[in-house]
Amino acid sequence: MWRATIFTLFPEMFPGPLGLSLSGEALSRGIWAMDTRDIRAHGLGRHRAVDDTPAGGGPGMVIRADVLGASLDAGLDEDDRRPRLLLSARGAALTQVRARALASGDGVVLICGRFEGVDERIVAARNLEEISIGDYVLSGGEIAAMVVCDACVRLLPGVMGAEASSVEESFEAGLLEYPHFTRPRAWEGLEIPEVLLTGDHARIKAWREAEALRITRERRPDLLKRS
Ligand code: SAH
Repeated sequence: MWRATIFTLFPEMFPGPLGLSLSGEALSRGIWAMDTRDIRAHGLGRHRAVDDTPAGGGPGMVIRADVLGASLDAGLDEDDRRPRLLLSARGAALTQVRARALASGDGVVLICGRFEGVDERIVAARNLEEISIGDYVLSGGEIAAMVVCDACVRLLPGVMGAEASSVEESFEAGLLEYPHFTRPRAWEGLEIPEVLLTGDHARIKAWREAEALRITRERRPDLLKRS
């Protein structure tokens, strides 16, 4: 079973939104599993301290390598081969291609930073890979970890109603998705594009491909250059 293990200072945030709707139903049906490890359980002293001031000075606090290392060592089996992803604004960007690759494996280990982040030494010492969910800064890795799980879980076999419904989506063909319409046929004077009402599947497919290309060219020309 695909399994996410999440190292966090806030285990009570999970499953959170992942416990509802598509991912929540898949969780209760046993298609995937999630467990959390409280990093603070390995904190130091009476106050279970997990962070300290940055070497070299500067603002904020840094999660200690010894604390996080102990937490990882205690919380994972030695033969666990799942990728260990450290949520980090400096990481390689999560993409649909990566989500699909992760979904096809055994699961993920997700490590959530807080404060200014984690002591750099932990990355190489525990074979972590930094992953980012976009070019902005969050206050912690937990919501980013949920994003990673959500993007993967919906791709697991049996999660989405129609198996096919994920293959035409944004990014799957290196393009943004074509626009959708549903009833009513006319709404506030706005009509559904006529071609979609013809039942002519070849024409509809051609229209959708052209729209996907047009929208991608307008909004994300970088995606076209990439392929
Ligand atoms: N000082 C860091 C930001 C720390 S934000 C910097 O400038 O890069 C605190 C934590 O939030 C990080 O350790 C990371 O786990 C998480 N985080 C912030 N932005 C993120 C992003 N774009 N993607 C994934 N995780 C992020």
